[in-house]
Amino acid sequence: MKNLALAAIAATLFAAGCRTVPMTERSQLMLSTESSEKELGATAYNDYKRETQPTTNAEQQALLQRVGNAIKDASDEKTFEWEFNVLESDTVNAFCLPGGKVAVYTGMMKYFSNEAELACVVAHEVGHAIARHGGERTSWSYLQALGTLGVSTLGNDTLQTIYGIGAEYGVMLPYSRLHENEADLIGLYLMAKAGYDPQAAVDFWKKFNTGNSSKLDEILSTHPCDATRVANLSQHLPEAQELYQQSKAKKGLGTSIVNGIPAK
Ligand SMILES: [Zn+2]
Repeated sequence: MKNLALAAIAATLFAAGCRTVPMTERSQLMLSTESSEKELGATAYNDYKRETQPTTNAEQQALLQRVGNAIKDASDEKTFEWEFNVLESDTVNAFCLPGGKVAVYTGMMKYFSNEAELACVVAHEVGHAIARHGGERTSWSYLQALGTLGVSTLGNDTLQTIYGIGAEYGVMLPYSRLHENEADLIGLYLMAKAGYDPQAAVDFWKKFNTGNSSKLDEILSTHPCDATRVANLSQHLPEAQELYQQSKAKKGLGTSIVNGIPAK
């Protein structure tokens, strides 16, 4: 009975709360509002910046600004208040919070050998944000909670409580395989549109798929990767190459990066 009620609620909510993901056209369940996600993103970003200071290395910050701005322009996302910061920490990770708040840790910067590889990771993170994967995950946990509690009506208080919990803790949880593939795909298109050779994305992930993955444990813990990742990227490479060919400012692999800073 509970399952039937839940199915009915799910159907109603799906009809009311459905969204199409930009660039992939997938229909997703969306019960959270973009404005609340952005507010959460901005607050969390300020907390991260307080805990982990932005690096004072001007070259590194300028490099991320340059790459970030190219990805931002390619995204056509006009409602985000974009921010790009390299944060001083050995953590090997990067993220983009809702609303376009991007961070790459200095520990991650060391693993890029050129601008296009940095673009690949930034574009992947931006992909999660413009696809609103956090909001989608919150929407599903809300449905799940409804099922667990056996709630059959949508009380505003219940919604607020459950949504609050999901929203608070959902920001840095591991993404699902579906979300990873989608962020990879959006990221691949974005870097190509921005003028970076998309082949760099395939090569970058291949490097860490051959027994070296322990180096990237941290980024892989929030962005699960398996052998299908490289296959998935390779499969969509021809479309990305087309976007790259059409891009006005082709940069190829961009400048080389050594120890996290542009090579002279
Ligand atoms: Zn990811």
